[in-house]
Amino acid sequence: MEQVDCVVVGAGVVGLAVARALALQGREVWVLEAEGAIGTGTSARNSEVIHAGLYYPQGSLKARLCVAGRDLLYAYCAERGVPHRRCGKLIVATAPEQQAQLEAVVAAARANGVNDLQPLSAAQARALEPALHCTGAVLSPSTGIIDSHAFMLALQGDLEHAGGLVALHTRVQSVEVDADGLCVRTADGTALHTRLLVNSAGLAAPALARSIAGLPPAHVPRAYYAKGNYFSLAGRCPFRRLIYPVPERAGLGVHLTIDLAGQAKFGPDVQWVGDPQDLQVDPARGEGFYAQIRRYWPGLPDAALVPGYAGMRPKLQAPGEDARDFLIQGPADHGVPGLVNLFGIESPGLTSSLAIGTQVAALVQGSAG
Ligand SMILES: Cc1cc2nc3c(=O)[nH]c(=O)nc-3n(C[C@H](O)[C@H](O)[C@H](O)COP(=O)(O)OP(=O)(O)OC[C@H]3O[C@@H](n4cnc5c(N)ncnc54)[C@H](O)[C@@H]3O)c2cc1C
Repeated sequence: MEQVDCVVVGAGVVGLAVARALALQGREVWVLEAEGAIGTGTSARNSEVIHAGLYYPQGSLKARLCVAGRDLLYAYCAERGVPHRRCGKLIVATAPEQQAQLEAVVAAARANGVNDLQPLSAAQARALEPALHCTGAVLSPSTGIIDSHAFMLALQGDLEHAGGLVALHTRVQSVEVDADGLCVRTADGTALHTRLLVNSAGLAAPALARSIAGLPPAHVPRAYYAKGNYFSLAGRCPFRRLIYPVPERAGLGVHLTIDLAGQAKFGPDVQWVGDPQDLQVDPARGEGFYAQIRRYWPGLPDAALVPGYAGMRPKLQAPGEDARDFLIQGPADHGVPGLVNLFGIESPGLTSSLAIGTQVAALVQGSAG
C-alpha cells in the first residue's frame, strides 16, 4: 500500500491553503479531490469578498481567523500578483432605528481588533456614493475583492513547488483508523496509508467523517444547508464600493458586491434547503430582492436583476438557532491520532483560508498528526 505523510481531502480554497501550509513545513502532502478541477465546490460559488472581520463574536475562530487571514491574504496577493482590490465597503442604515445596529457593528469590530471603521452621516456617505439612500453608514476601508480562482491556482503552485501534489478525479470513499495512522480508500479502489488526514471536504466533511471507522460518531456534527442565491445587475452599476445593509440573523442581508471585471451582483440571500446539490436559482426569488435593494438604492431600475448563481453554506446550526463557529477538530478533541476535521467552514472561509492553514499546521506540528 502506498504510504503518504499527509493527505488532505478536498481541493477547495481551504484544503489547498492547509496543504500548502503543511508542505511549507517540509511534509509530503497529497490533496485528493473528487472533481476534475480544483475549486469547483463552495470555493467557486461565493462573493469573493476579502472580509475585514467585523461581525463575528469576540474571540471566536471566525473573528480571529478572519482578521489574521485578511492580513495574510492581502500580503500574499501583493507578493504573488493575485488580482484583488481593496475597494472598501459601506454598511448602511436605511431607517433611524437601524442606527443602533450600525453602532453594534462598530463595537463588535473594535472588539475583534478592527479599528479602521469610519462612521459617516447620510450626507458623507452620499458624497462617496451619490446613488445611495441611507440614514447613516459605516465605511470599512479594509474590505476588498479578490480573484479567488487565481488565488487557488497560486496556492496549488506553492504546494507543487514544495513537492506536494493534487490528485483530481479521486473521491475518498472510506477511511479506517489503524495502529500507525489512517488507511484511505478511494472510489477506484486504491488504498493509501497516511500519518495525517485532514478532512477539508466542505459540505461533505460531516459525511466523510461519518465514514471514518474508528472516529466516535458523537464527534461528527449534523450538517445543515443554507443556500445563498445571487442576482446579477444588467446594466451599469453606479457604485464603486460594496454596499451592505445592517446584518441579519442568518446572513449579511442582500448586499451589493462587484467583481474585478466590474460586474455587480446582489445576494446571497438565505434559503434553508435539505439537499446540498440544490444549486438552481429560482427566478421568482428576485421579486423579494427588489424591495430589499431599493431600501438603499431607490434607483434600481425595473427588470434589472437577472438570476445569477447560488452557493451553499455548510451550516452547523438548524434554522432559527444561533450561528455556530468554525469547528477545527484535532486529535485532542476526538481522540484519533493523525486526524483533523474541518466542519462548518462557511463565510469568512475564503478570507480566513491562509490563517486556517497556519492553524492546522500548528495543531499537528511536531507530531505524527
Ligand atoms: C454564498 C456564499 C458566499 C460566500 N462569500 C464569501 C466571501 O465573500 N468571503 C469569504 O471569505 N468567504 C465567503 N464564503 C465562504 C467560502 O466560500 C468558503 O468558506 C470556502 O470556499 C470553503 O472552502 P472549502 O475548501 O472548505 O470547501 P469547498 O470549496 O466546497 O471544497 C471542498 C472540496 O472537497 C471536495 N470533496 C468533497 N468530498 C470529497 C471526497 N469524499 N473526496 C475527495 N474530495 C471531496 C469537493 O469536490 C470540493 O472541491 C461564502 C460562502 C457561500 C456559500
